[in-house]
Amino acid sequence: MATKRTHKITLIPGDGIGPEVSGAMVKVLEAAGEATGVGFEWHEYAAGADAFEATGEYIPKALYESVEQNKVAIKGPVTTPVGGGFSSINVTLRKKFDLYANFRPVKSLPGLETKYPNIDMIIVRENTEDLYSGLEVEVVPGVVQALKIITEKGSSRIAQFAFDYAKKHNRKKIHAIHKANIMKLSDGLFLRCCRKVSEGFPEVEYKEHIVDNTCMQLVLNPYQYDIILTENLYGDILSDLCSAFVGGLGLVPGANLGAECAIFEAVHGSAPDIAGQDKANPTALLQSAVLMLHHLNEAEAAERVQSGIEQVYREGKTLTRDVGGSAGTKAFADAVLAAMESPVAAK
Ligand code: ATP
Repeated sequence: MATKRTHKITLIPGDGIGPEVSGAMVKVLEAAGEATGVGFEWHEYAAGADAFEATGEYIPKALYESVEQNKVAIKGPVTTPVGGGFSSINVTLRKKFDLYANFRPVKSLPGLETKYPNIDMIIVRENTEDLYSGLEVEVVPGVVQALKIITEKGSSRIAQFAFDYAKKHNRKKIHAIHKANIMKLSDGLFLRCCRKVSEGFPEVEYKEHIVDNTCMQLVLNPYQYDIILTENLYGDILSDLCSAFVGGLGLVPGANLGAECAIFEAVHGSAPDIAGQDKANPTALLQSAVLMLHHLNEAEAAERVQSGIEQVYREGKTLTRDVGGSAGTKAFADAVLAAMESPVAAK
């Protein structure tokens, strides 16, 4: 089929397992695009330690300019050094482009058995504030202070995003997750903003849970949650927890959304323990690409990729190790390509 529309997309393969899962994602998208009349122009940039080696900058100026121009990027994970070194590339990009909404759907894949079947929830995480402000200072030797920044503007707009989404997509319930019993001012402000926004959406049930109780409630009965609306740090932790319901970090996609730009990335990190071994599961980045295709209004291509992924899971023959199979990253991607070529109707 002749290409009808071409999208320019900034591609940040990342490091660790990033290049492997990004390679798989590009291959699958190219094939889906070919079949549905969608073309992609990939503008590829390194970030983090690799970029520093090549350009002397952790985030090259050209990368910023590319995201500014294209408005859409997809990235693999970029390693953040623990306890020192440079600031998180992920956090820096989210702040630079004011990508305030981190949208993470957690949905079971057909055929993949877990302890919690038929999960379908969404985590909406504030993406620019909280302890991720990066404002830390050593007050005196042996005493450090980290600033948790919560603003009315930041809290209101993430709540608005969650309720707008719920209304548009007919989701029934939103839980605001907090620790306002201890952080009375900061989490108290977050809650007040959520409550105020909720008043404009009587059709969406609004509830509040304290974050520690939420962890227990999630493990006991995740089905009580529909949309989880929360601050940056709680959202980070709850995302990893919730990924386990559907088979782990190899599966859960994410979108970082702002008024101007969007960067799509998996929930998982760079997984150095399995990097370069053809062991990584590319499903999370592939499903992030599906979110990107919907964002680009390419529903047919999105559906083709999602159906291909689901068919491979339903058949269960070519799964990666993290979900109980023995296939490598490349074999999994090839299986998705084959499934897209020869779709079998779901029973
Ligand atoms: P970050 O804080 O940077 O998000 P993290 O602490 O969540 O990272 P990850 O790098 O995501 O850590 O890895 C956590 C575990 O999950 C590791 O054992 C890793 O191998 C596994 N893992 C993560 N992503 C994948 C994947 N795509 N496929 C298979 N296993 C994965």
